[in-house]
Amino acid sequence: MTVLILGGTSEAAALARACAAAGLTDCLISLAGRTAVPLALPLPVRVGGFGGAEGLAAFIRENAITALVDATHPFAARISANAAQAVAQTGLPALTLHRAGWARQAGDIWLDVPGLGEAVEVLGPAPRRVFLTIGRQGLHAFARAPQHHYLARTIEPVGEVLRVPHLTELNARGPFDAEAEVALMLREKVEVLVTKHSGGASTYGKVEAARRLGLPVVMIARPASTALPATERVEEALAFVKAHLPPSSAGLPSSPA
Ligand code: NAP
Repeated sequence: MTVLILGGTSEAAALARACAAAGLTDCLISLAGRTAVPLALPLPVRVGGFGGAEGLAAFIRENAITALVDATHPFAARISANAAQAVAQTGLPALTLHRAGWARQAGDIWLDVPGLGEAVEVLGPAPRRVFLTIGRQGLHAFARAPQHHYLARTIEPVGEVLRVPHLTELNARGPFDAEAEVALMLREKVEVLVTKHSGGASTYGKVEAARRLGLPVVMIARPASTALPATERVEEALAFVKAHLPPSSAGLPSSPA
């Protein structure tokens, strides 16, 4: 009997470490398989899509899953919607572990936009030096504004996704602290930052750096979250996992025969 943790985030990795440290090893982390070399995790991992909500519901039934934690990225809306649907179909207990959004602070210059298309528009017609930190998948949207000079930071190589005359590519995995982000933005003469409103601490350094440098930030809004119960605290998710594993695998001593 296993708790299924939908991952691909630093929160899921933190939960995996907490579960392993508590002896809760009957958990299974699920990754989409977007990165060629994912971070090593101390729990069993499966990789690849389930085949929509129906496929996930079948996986839950076939693998004696006792509960589900949706610890995916706030912008991974499809898998979260599938999880909510599969949970409704199977009656499985479920919890969302999502990072808190960022609060706007004095000195922040945020241009809030609802999506990628609007993010491209708001950059305007004049060429600018744009720092793209939206991951690899959304980069294609910026191909229709080839006048800008883009600095694109992604984990995987950009490849053919963004073909523009002026592209500097930086392949790196967070966390990134504010000092390093300030140095990078100065070195690359960044004029505007484009980011998803991902929230959390590990990628907040760029937002802080932009504030310090007085740079505008094109802030792409989060998609709506599902109606599943939610927490921002790894300890709460850990308690949920523990409550849904049988006693012998929940880090408790087994009862005498
Ligand atoms: P998405 O659009 O919500 O999901 C697309 C499809 O990918 C899903 O329908 C599902 O395929 C599969 N999938 C996604 N997450 C999965 C998981 N944890 N385990 C198994 N299958 C999964 O997701 P996305 O935005 O492409 O993100 C993919 C993964 O990268 C997520 O796990 C997310 O946590 C992580 N991530 C995303 C972002 C972001 O900005 N979107 C940033 C950092 C990390 P099936 O329908 O076939 O099941």
